[in-house]
Amino acid sequence: MRILLVEDDLLLGDGIRVGLSQEGYTVDWVTDGVAASAAAEVEEFDLMVLDLGLPKRSGLEVLAALRDRGSSLPVLILTARDTLGDRVQGLDAGADDYLSKPFDLEELCARARALRRRAQGRASPKLVRGDLVLDPAAHSVTLAGSPVALSAGEFTLLSLLLEHAGRVVPRERMEQTLYGWVKEVDSNTIEVYVHHLRKKLGSDLIRTVRGVGYRIEKAG
Ligand code: CA
Repeated sequence: MRILLVEDDLLLGDGIRVGLSQEGYTVDWVTDGVAASAAAEVEEFDLMVLDLGLPKRSGLEVLAALRDRGSSLPVLILTARDTLGDRVQGLDAGADDYLSKPFDLEELCARARALRRRAQGRASPKLVRGDLVLDPAAHSVTLAGSPVALSAGEFTLLSLLLEHAGRVVPRERMEQTLYGWVKEVDSNTIEVYVHHLRKKLGSDLIRTVRGVGYRIEKAG
């Protein structure tokens, strides 16, 4: 899951970034409202974690602009003051959920998973395909009931492919989900991950769509 974090408090922002990264999420972090709008327009994210009190453009304005252009990106707002007015305004402006500061990182992660699930219209928290089961909360993968050990990157890519089962996931999207916008990715990186996943999970699970990306078929 690739998350756009918008938070101008550097200490808090860094804490959230580190916490979410440890959960295996890729976090791109901006510290003002204008940068947030620009990032959300250009890049593809799975979730925005949005502080309301921001320099240059308020969180509510960022949110309103996002919804005005028809984006359905899930947004979780962070409210400093636990006032009813803030929360109601945020939800009315198109936020999907909110957390009042101070909050627990574990709760933020759980809410992020729930929003992701809701955005994909999934009722079950687990991603299942045949006898392959991926549990995002437990960070575990089993194949026919037996645990499979995956690296953080392998886990991230498998989650992405399972979330999009039946559709092609472009290589660019895979790179962004793994690394965010921070660096140029070695062109072999994705192949190496897919190679390892095939070795661990079976060679026919992940299909190569030449020149585009990869796909996991929906279980028939
Ligand atoms: Ca703030």
